[in-house]
Amino acid sequence: MKVDIKSLLYEEIESFITGLGEPRFRAKQVFHWLFGKGVDNFESMSDLPARLRENLSETAFITTPEVVSRRKTGDGFTVKFLYRLNDGELIETVFMRRLWGRTVCISTQVGCRMGCRFCASGVSGLVRNLTAGEMYDQVLVTQKETGERISHVVLMGMGEPLDNLDNTLRFLKNITYPAGLRIGARRISVSTCGVVPGIRALGRLGIQVGLAVSLHAPNDDLRNVLVPVNRRYPLSELIEACKDFIEHTGRRVTFEYTLISGVNDGRQTAQELAGLLAGLLCHVNIIPLNRVAERGFAPPPAERVAAFKTVLQERGITVTVRHSVGDQIAAACGQLRRIEKWDCRGP
Ligand code: SAH
Repeated sequence: MKVDIKSLLYEEIESFITGLGEPRFRAKQVFHWLFGKGVDNFESMSDLPARLRENLSETAFITTPEVVSRRKTGDGFTVKFLYRLNDGELIETVFMRRLWGRTVCISTQVGCRMGCRFCASGVSGLVRNLTAGEMYDQVLVTQKETGERISHVVLMGMGEPLDNLDNTLRFLKNITYPAGLRIGARRISVSTCGVVPGIRALGRLGIQVGLAVSLHAPNDDLRNVLVPVNRRYPLSELIEACKDFIEHTGRRVTFEYTLISGVNDGRQTAQELAGLLAGLLCHVNIIPLNRVAERGFAPPPAERVAAFKTVLQERGITVTVRHSVGDQIAAACGQLRRIEKWDCRGP
């Protein structure tokens, strides 16, 4: 069976190459071709001896997603890509042109098994984990397709990154590695619905990636319903894990809070949230709900969003409200899905 070379770490590529009887320094060249230049075949690795290129072709393969379709918002600042993986599965990746750089929002699983009540990605459950290489490919292909250098990566697309922990950590190591795209850890953010062991592992990785926790409720009763993984890892454990992450990385944690009309947007809920987060090195990012047909919830009116924000601010909590950027093309938070009712109309 051939090796999926883009899911290997640098040291593993080194052992693979020396195992083929080649000198160690070749690993750096191979790594650069794969992860820096993003070539899709060994033949193009022109500074390698022909013998090695042949040997690699016989023993390893390079994953190459196919671009099925792309949709752009009217202003051109956001583009949603539909990619087909080598086994035919479809995933979505979102490119965002921002003042401070170019961000790509990648998927980490085909589907999701976390079952958050308002999210489209989990509607049909989990199909499979993405490999580390398939996560990296989304950055490479999006960079190639847009012709723009990607500066920031967020793991906020389809799937739960920490439910696919090993591959996610591999991806993070490779994307920050100097011979590849070398994206700074501080420009990478991992978003989780609260898989506690994963948060602890991420904190101990030794790189300063950002952590975003999808909180959505300040007490277990409500969170058990909205974010069912809370029944496994209740709020007390989640907050402890966040403290542990802060201790190890020195980084502020972002709490994502999707506001749903009549469900988690009341004044008292805001006060309870402020109490839960008091004294923690954190920041709250409010996301007014993006509509998902199957889920039936609605976003609150703007005044209610503002009132919720004010309560938190009055209690000394830093808050931002995320302005949805991809809503018109169903590329906003929680709208990515495995089988998109993808049509090629639209902007
Ligand atoms: N599984 C990860 C990352 C994917 S979702 C996580 O849960 O964090 C990225 C963010 O979008 C999460 O905060 C998620 O809760 C939020 N989200 C999901 N559905 C949404 C919706 N319909 N409207 C607004 N935000 C949503």
